[in-house]
Amino acid sequence: MTMLDEFRAAAVAAADRPFLRYFGTVLSYGEVDRLSDALAVALQDNGFGHGDRVALYLQNVPQYVIALLAAWKAGGIAVAINPMLTAGEVAKLLADATPTVLIALDELYSERLAEALAGSSVTRVLSTSALDWQTEQDTRVLPGHRLPVPDGTEDLRALIERHNGDCPDPVTVGDDDVAVLTYTSGTTGKPKGATNTHRNIATGGHTYREWFRLSDADVVLGVAPLFHVTGLTGHIACTVAAQASLVLSYRFHTEVTAELIRRHRVTFTVGAITVFIALGDSAAVEPEDLASLTKIASGGAPIAAATTERFEQRFGSYIHNVYGMTETTAPVLGVPLGSRAPVDPRTQALSVGVPMGGTRVAVLDDDGNPVPPGQLGEIAVRGPQIVPGYWRNEQATNDAIRDGWLRTGDVGYVDEDGWFYLVDRKKDVIVASGYKVWPREVEDVLYTHEAVLEAAVVGVPDPYRGETVKAFVSLRDGCAATPEELIDYCRERLAAYKYPRQVEIVDALPKTVTGKILRRELRERSG
Ligand code: AMP
Repeated sequence: MTMLDEFRAAAVAAADRPFLRYFGTVLSYGEVDRLSDALAVALQDNGFGHGDRVALYLQNVPQYVIALLAAWKAGGIAVAINPMLTAGEVAKLLADATPTVLIALDELYSERLAEALAGSSVTRVLSTSALDWQTEQDTRVLPGHRLPVPDGTEDLRALIERHNGDCPDPVTVGDDDVAVLTYTSGTTGKPKGATNTHRNIATGGHTYREWFRLSDADVVLGVAPLFHVTGLTGHIACTVAAQASLVLSYRFHTEVTAELIRRHRVTFTVGAITVFIALGDSAAVEPEDLASLTKIASGGAPIAAATTERFEQRFGSYIHNVYGMTETTAPVLGVPLGSRAPVDPRTQALSVGVPMGGTRVAVLDDDGNPVPPGQLGEIAVRGPQIVPGYWRNEQATNDAIRDGWLRTGDVGYVDEDGWFYLVDRKKDVIVASGYKVWPREVEDVLYTHEAVLEAAVVGVPDPYRGETVKAFVSLRDGCAATPEELIDYCRERLAAYKYPRQVEIVDALPKTVTGKILRRELRERSG
């Protein structure tokens, strides 16, 4: 089934059931079907057709889901754009994906973006307000007032109202058609658009549904960004697959998130570990707020065993590690619901789980041959969630996917019982006095220190060791620790070549919106 078939099945079987909840507004499956029909008609009226692209430059608002479905109903492809990107960065993605339509939040539609669009493929801009389809004006996250419709754009809501009740011309969409272009987080070189097909996304949605036993009784919290594959499959596709409902909240805000979980009796979510660290660290969040949230997954960045333990002690729920990447559309490794990830006694690494949803996972040496359990190698994956390649970039596709296996660039190993462990990104390894130090291992030790909120370890130039180990650390509210104390703490727990020689305490670590700590930025800062 394509994602469109999946959604249409839900719109028939669950027409009156709540699909999207957003600050006081509830949109049923039937209503979202009508709204996206109207938008698809508006797109088709302007000549938008099979394979055409519409770029979405939005936060987690209902319009994201409506526009995604409308793009598919008109036979097109959505281009997911991170709302944190600047106009210049957006322009680069647009030059690669060449969409004809851009749907943007009014507050993101700046003069600089308008200038960047002037020479681009975009011929039509639809703007929309985060204050549409809501009634609560929660200014902790939402903009305080409505902006006028920017010049040169059409108002999305007015356009939808104009076509209310219209049905789009039927289009033929196949499983292997590209449904969404998701851009990889790398910021060097040409941006690479992963071509997530309808099959990839539908499989991802089913994987989540089955792994976390989701049904129409579940309420999903959309805490990961919708532009990222985690939001695409872990929020939208799995909600549709289970005919459940999805709570959206524009962007993450610790206390707002806790209130929404309590109010809507949220049962499932998947998000960056930073979300759960923030919830656990907030004095305003009570264990009862999270009582209904019994199915939790986290992926996208390393998780220290100490973090899951601390969260479980406070809230009683266990965080299930899942591993995947943009090119795998959804997780390919995960800790089964109800199981606990083993911790490697040698390295203290928390396992990322076992293969999920029909995916094969292997650990390969530099020549591409499988290595025995316990031995380090590059993780490679194959299965129905893996993208066929990168948008119009044969070279990058051939480099990443060889003989049907996606080379992830992540180094890891599998134990005798089939549990996988991730060591690090291949390119983040530190070579100190000729020894390899994997930053993850040092970070995991730092996370066991009670004063440490977040930690990131990088290699910095050193005249004697070539490279040496440096840790950047932020501290929990009300806790104190000196760099010397943290260095001593690690020295007692790690081999002499591994412990950090430098520790810098910072207010906050630089992060991507998906919760990845930007080690590269920290390296540059120290270079
Ligand atoms: P992205 O393409 O932005 O989703 O990033 C994918 C990368 O995030 C992977 O290649 C890993 O390096 C990292 N990653 C994903 N899940 C995990 C996890 N559970 N633990 C550690 N790193 C992870």
